Amino acid sequence: MLSLDDSIAMLPGIGPKRSGLLANLGVATVRDLLFHLPRDYQDRRDVLPIAQAAQREGDLVTVQGEIVSARSIRLRRNMSLAVVSIRDDTGRMNVTFFGRGFLAKTFVPGASGIFTGTVGNYQGPALKNPEYEMLSGDEEDRLNTGRVVPIYRLTQKVTQRMLRRWIAAALDAVDVSMEDPLPALLRARYEYPPVFEALREAHFPAEIEAGRHARTRFAYEELLGIQLGILAARQAHLHEETGIRHAIDGPCLGRLRAALPFTLTEAQQRVVNDVLEDMASPRPMFRLLQGDVGCGKTVVALHGIAAARDGGYQTALMAPTEVLAEQHFITLRDWLEPVGIRVGLLTGAIRGAASVRREIALGHVDVVVGTHAIIQEATRFHRLGLAVVDEQHRFGVVQRGLLAEKGQSTDILQMTATPIPRTLAITVYGGMDISVIDQLPPGRQPIKTRHVPAEKVADLYRYIAEQAAEGYQTYLICPLVEESDKKDLTAVTSHFEALSEGPLADLRTALIHGRLGADEKDAVMHRFKRGEVDVLFSTTVIEVGIDVPNATTMVIEDAAQFGLTQLHQLRGRVGRGDRQSHCFLVGAPTTKEGKRRIEVLCKTNSGFEIAEEDLVLRGPGEFYGVRQAGLTDLRVADLIRDARLLDAARRDAQAILAEDPTLSAPEHRHLAQIAQQFTAGNA
Ligand code: ADP
Ligand code: MG
Repeated sequence: MLSLDDSIAMLPGIGPKRSGLLANLGVATVRDLLFHLPRDYQDRRDVLPIAQAAQREGDLVTVQGEIVSARSIRLRRNMSLAVVSIRDDTGRMNVTFFGRGFLAKTFVPGASGIFTGTVGNYQGPALKNPEYEMLSGDEEDRLNTGRVVPIYRLTQKVTQRMLRRWIAAALDAVDVSMEDPLPALLRARYEYPPVFEALREAHFPAEIEAGRHARTRFAYEELLGIQLGILAARQAHLHEETGIRHAIDGPCLGRLRAALPFTLTEAQQRVVNDVLEDMASPRPMFRLLQGDVGCGKTVVALHGIAAARDGGYQTALMAPTEVLAEQHFITLRDWLEPVGIRVGLLTGAIRGAASVRREIALGHVDVVVGTHAIIQEATRFHRLGLAVVDEQHRFGVVQRGLLAEKGQSTDILQMTATPIPRTLAITVYGGMDISVIDQLPPGRQPIKTRHVPAEKVADLYRYIAEQAAEGYQTYLICPLVEESDKKDLTAVTSHFEALSEGPLADLRTALIHGRLGADEKDAVMHRFKRGEVDVLFSTTVIEVGIDVPNATTMVIEDAAQFGLTQLHQLRGRVGRGDRQSHCFLVGAPTTKEGKRRIEVLCKTNSGFEIAEEDLVLRGPGEFYGVRQAGLTDLRVADLIRDARLLDAARRDAQAILAEDPTLSAPEHRHLAQIAQQFTAGNA
């Protein structure tokens, strides 16, 4: 009898070499092997008479027959072919194994076998490279044909046959009395079989549906564990009643509301309510605000800032770069000083940082806008009550934590213009409350996006020149900084030189890329913001949040090279003013995916729709935070396929925690263990 934690080397037929191969599948123990669940099934129960099978060219069929003869035929260069002739009452056909002539001698005339393969042709109808099993009389032993068979994810030199044999052996060898991690109540709710039965069913089901249902049980179990982990961490927060009860009907907030020259969109109004409600409540706010560039997140933050100020609290707003911090500083100052709120700037670049810090410590500044400089040791607040993090994904958990620690039970509002699909959000950011602005302010003209084939670029350059003549600016993005031998992609430096002396010679051009120093980059960005540059040549270094309303044209060279989310972010640098903006995607995509990306971008302006598409195209692993949260190592569940299951798991997790917040009931012991692994990334 084996235990689940035993090494797979304990199983018959698995030596050191095969253990090594199985390691590539993440399989080291008997448990790992048993949880290497099928990715699919094939129904091979329907055995066709040979005469019928012979007519089904191109189809996958199963036949059973007696071996008539078997021979090996030498092909070119060490290649050989095994040709086996089989028959039943209705006729004969050939079975061929390409490159495996050595098999011929294993087929003894007179023996019976069962074969599943695609019907092709070799001196008449023939099954090509079928999977097969010789019949020993005991039907129970069949693993590969004549039944519903599991199809596994493979690795080099490990075949379906081997996995089926080893897994069947493991199922027979382990102690079946293992405890069920899933409480009986939940098992009953979804009619899931008990754990061991479910394992058996998942691998060797009688019906495909039963196999899928058994797999679902394990996916559910995993998702439930994750949600329990995330929600338990968050619940600790919910019960904390040490937060600041901010006043949300004070004079500053009133003046701000009166001063707004526009009405908030419905979405903004909803989120302002979320934020103010959190701030008024005694538990600390821990909220994520997702919304496309330009949807008006900053305006929402202003409301929180004013509410904090009304109670005599300071706010810190942290942005990832100098340029963004300065931009926010100017915006906030323009909005807030008239309302009676004092705004300060603290970055690594400013002179007199020490005196700014003194003002902050004395409470002479109400809002500090800045970069990482804010979280340095030297920065002390008089009374920090609210921390806002812009482009939160650009900061690590530690940095965001440091900011919060500058105050006591500080309310935290994190903002991002890079939406992630909902299924990922409730796992990656499941520990936070999430608000979404899915609506742009009225009157905003959606950016028009077009694909420009390489032969039409001359028209494009003419268009850029016309825009410049009318006083509007252009971003021109290239994938590389310098020419490289390896890739045939546009490099920004040479492109800049060629166009500045060629078609764009009459315009004021400038160049920016990651190899410039931070000061140089800032200098170029400032010139562009002041309108002293018509066309800015750049790599992807230009910031997501950069706001130059006068820039109306975005050109992306070799557009298909970029990821969908990245293209969408690049595009978001235009469309910030009243004038119709355009985004031109240049170059012919060479792959199907590249083509799809361009199609999607031309079709929609919604960051949320694009994130969903991106999830399908690239899988969850590419999204920020997913790896950190351990979600790429899921054993069974699939965050795309199992979206519905995830919802159920989240609901159930909430209900379980309502009854048993610390998961200390005996029936939750196993769930508590799974849960523990998934609290990371939600601090
Ligand atoms: P984000 O931070 O989400 O990128 P901002 O808060 O900077 O967006 O808003 C983008 C622009 O839209 C700003 O110029 C802002 O003043 C303006 N704006 C925000 N909300 C509204 C609204 N409800 N109606 C009209 N204009 C708005
Ligand atoms: Mg912003």
